Amino acid sequence: MMTETCIFCKIIKKDLPAIIVFENEEFIVFHDKNPISELHLLLVTKKHIESLQSISINDSEWLGRMIALIPEIIIQNGCKNGFRVISNAGTNSGQEIPHLHFHIIGGNSLHKKIL
Ligand code: 5GP
Ligand code: ZN
Repeated sequence: MMTETCIFCKIIKKDLPAIIVFENEEFIVFHDKNPISELHLLLVTKKHIESLQSISINDSEWLGRMIALIPEIIIQNGCKNGFRVISNAGTNSGQEIPHLHFHIIGGNSLHKKIL
């Protein structure tokens, strides 16, 4: 998918509205428009990367920074009793938006454990 047609690239460029709760040079966090839990955020790379299928060992540093943002995001959004992080990658996962993102879900008890 081209970055011009990518929904998340449009949100990053502020061409599409979203409820943004965090933003720095590398990443943006906004509310999922179709939440599956009380809190459902999307932590998204500003660079258009398709999924975890497209990364390698060379991406360790920024990926580390991306994951390390999660506790602060969780605290700032009042989600103190635990959460879950999911990243769909590729066809079999049902990935809808081919732009790398982590779903951060919580706010209520997450009954269905996949793994
Ligand atoms: P995926 O299946 O790619 O892991 O999940 C994509 C997620 O993006 C879905 O949970 C969907 O609700 C969310 N989403 C799709 N379009 C938009 C949009 O325009 N705005 C926001 N905020 N979320 C979206
Ligand atoms: Zn994109």
